[in-house]
Amino acid sequence: MSVLVVGSLALDTIETPFGSVRDTVGGSAVYISAASSYFVSPIRLVGVVGGDFPKSGMAFLEDRNVDLEGLEVIQNGKTFRWSGRYRYDLNERDTLATDLNVFESFDPKIPERYRKTRVVCLGNIDPLLQRKVLDQMENPRVVICDTMNYWIERRNAELRETLKHINVLILNDSEARLLSKEPNLIKAAKVIRGFGPAVVIIKKGEHGALLLTEQIVFSAPAYPMENIFDPTGAGDSFAGGFAGWLARTDDLTEENLKRAVIYGSTLASFCVEKFGVEGLKDLTYLQIQDRFREFRELSRFNED
Ligand code: AMP
Repeated sequence: MSVLVVGSLALDTIETPFGSVRDTVGGSAVYISAASSYFVSPIRLVGVVGGDFPKSGMAFLEDRNVDLEGLEVIQNGKTFRWSGRYRYDLNERDTLATDLNVFESFDPKIPERYRKTRVVCLGNIDPLLQRKVLDQMENPRVVICDTMNYWIERRNAELRETLKHINVLILNDSEARLLSKEPNLIKAAKVIRGFGPAVVIIKKGEHGALLLTEQIVFSAPAYPMENIFDPTGAGDSFAGGFAGWLARTDDLTEENLKRAVIYGSTLASFCVEKFGVEGLKDLTYLQIQDRFREFRELSRFNED
C-alpha cells in the first residue's frame, strides 16, 4: 500500500511572533509525504524543483522513505517560493509572496509503476496540474484533494472541474466560505458536496475539524497546544495523516474516516510544535498512537 502525492516543493520564508526563517524547505507535497510516511511506505512523490533545492530537502524526503522517481529536477530553474506572515493569534496568515517559478511550466508525468496507486493525495497546487495527474492514474480507490484561497480566486473554473473527479476535499473554514459563497459551514459543505466530492473536511485551525458526508457530521476536537511555533504545513500534515491512515487500512467506512480525521489532526499537532518540517522528523509510531488516544479522551464524557 502506498500514497501517491502531488503538490508543491518549496522554499518558504516564514515570520511568526516567535521568530522567522528564510528559504526553509516546505511545500504541500513535502509535508503530505512526510506525514503519510508514518503510516505506509514508500510514499510516491510527483513534483518539480529547481537546481537550488537544497540537499537537506532531498535528504529529509529520503529519510522518510519517499520514492523520488516522480520528482523532476530542473537544474537551471528556480524552486517554487512562498512567503507568509502570521499574526499574533497564529490563526490569521498573510501571504506576502508566491513565486511559482518551475511550477509555471510543469507538466507532470506519472511513472508507469505509480499509476495503479490506490490512494491519491492531490496537495495544494494549480488545479489543472492536479487533474493532469489524475488523468494518468488507473482507477484510484480514493482521491483526496487540498486547495487554498490562491487557487479558489485565480483558477475557479479549473478547480470546479477538478472537484468533479475527487472523493474527499480538505479545506479550511475561510476557504470553504469562499468556494461555496455561503457563510454557514454546514450549508457550505452541502454546496461543495454538490460540486463533486462526497466527503468534505473543513479545518477550523485551533478549533478542530468537521467531517461531512451525506449521512454524518463529525466534529473532531483540536489538540490543546501550549507551544505552537509555526502553523505552516498544518493543513498538509493533516491531509497526509488522513491519506496515510486510509492507505494503511484500505477501509472507507464512516467510522474509519473519523479515525483518519483524528490521525490527520495528530500529525498536524506534531507539525506545528516546531519550525518548518522539523516537527515531522523522527516521530515514532508509539508517539503518534499516544496522541491519537489523547484526542479520544478530550471529548469523552459519561452520560450520567
Ligand atoms: P499549509 O500551512 O498547510 O496551508 O501549507 C503551507 C505550505 O503550502 C507552504 O509550505 C507553502 O510552500 C505551500 N503553498 C503556499 N501557497 C501555495 C500555492 N499557491 N500553491 C502551492 N503551494 C503553496
